[in-house]
Amino acid sequence: MKSLGGIKLPHYKSTATSETVEFGIPEKILIPMSQAMGAMPEPLVKKGDNVTVGQKIGSTDAFMSAPIHSPVSGEVTDIVDYINPNGVRAKAVVIKPDGLQTKADGITPPEISDKQSFIYAVRESGLTGLGGAAFPTHVKLSFDELKTPIDTLIINGAECEPYITADNRCFLEDATDITDGILLCQKYLGIPHCKICIEDNKPEAIALMKKKTENINAIEVVTLPSKYPQGAEKVIIYHSTGRVVMEGELPSNAGVMVLNVSTVAFIANYAKTGMPLTTKRITIDGSAVKQNRGNYNVFIGTPISDILKFAGAEAAKKILYGGPMMGTALFSPDQPILKSTNAILAFDEEEQQIGIEPSNCIRCGSCTRACPLNLMPMRFETAYKTEDTEALKKLRLPLCMSCGCCSYVCPANRPLVETNLLAKELLRK
Ligand code: SF4
Ligand code: SF4
Repeated sequence: MKSLGGIKLPHYKSTATSETVEFGIPEKILIPMSQAMGAMPEPLVKKGDNVTVGQKIGSTDAFMSAPIHSPVSGEVTDIVDYINPNGVRAKAVVIKPDGLQTKADGITPPEISDKQSFIYAVRESGLTGLGGAAFPTHVKLSFDELKTPIDTLIINGAECEPYITADNRCFLEDATDITDGILLCQKYLGIPHCKICIEDNKPEAIALMKKKTENINAIEVVTLPSKYPQGAEKVIIYHSTGRVVMEGELPSNAGVMVLNVSTVAFIANYAKTGMPLTTKRITIDGSAVKQNRGNYNVFIGTPISDILKFAGAEAAKKILYGGPMMGTALFSPDQPILKSTNAILAFDEEEQQIGIEPSNCIRCGSCTRACPLNLMPMRFETAYKTEDTEALKKLRLPLCMSCGCCSYVCPANRPLVETNLLAKELLRK
């Protein structure tokens, strides 16, 4: 099978053997309502209210939305205005934990008997794609089996970004939940085959999942070469099934559904306990981390400043939600852990090459060869500068997934991925 571009990156996965540790209850929790694609939930609580663990504190009737739950028991001390790192404005609920972790009434396993009740349960759990996409999972599960039948469920365990090892720990610590979650999806969504896809730099995870599934014919473990961006949806679909998701189409048009490994493990845990999404497993790492690098189970809403203090990384020059290739830079350590956060990486100046000036394009073509979608990033740059939106469309700019391969290989240090983002904004306008 032909390979789709991509690049070899140093792994820096020094936390791969770090077992997940509970981070503990912070002094303050800040929970933004803007944590998923789709309609934004409205706060259901007000200043002075007492809340309990798992209580719904944000919701909307819109289908394309995921409710938000309190990870702690305590008192709502404020409802504040909040700006996401991507610039989206939202309300955020501030909670002072009481340390008792009193569970909300009605936290019991959901009643699931068919596809409809399965999708309803997943919606009520507040689940969004835990690999970082923040797409409400119940919407993905609601495909129309008559229009776009799905025969293969792909479990994305590539974790191709350097540093991040949270999904690797999920394989090693939650293998039973992973297989249980897969079997639930297969049963209630009617998907006959499943491929668990793991990069070859996680041999322990591959061995464990092969052992765990040796007597389950419907589930196959697929080893993929560690090449970035192996975990990108179109790339993992092609490399595991040979199918191509055409421009403007969804994975369901190619007969597949892709779920992140932590997402499917959470589905099983929720089906067993009824506890909604209130914590996240994250990797803490990066060159500015002086202590406690590793994997932690952290309450959603924990301030990043608490993480940096714990890691001795308060002097970091750059802090990222997620990996160095596709992560989002934080503009303030007051930002909190979100449902989509899978890592907090803190870097010194040298590591991020801050301050290196770009030089002129030498037309070497490296960016096109590295692009997994065969796009021409250097031509995006020219078209953007002249505001030639027709050329941007012809060059298929909307396909760009901001993976950063082009910027990484460019010998002239051109800010290609940043330009692509600005050009997309120009097209949107
Ligand atoms: S950022 Fe866009 S243009 Fe650059 S390599 Fe990735 S998909 Fe291709
Ligand atoms: S990799 Fe950089 S220098 Fe080479 S063609 Fe692309 S933009 Fe130009």
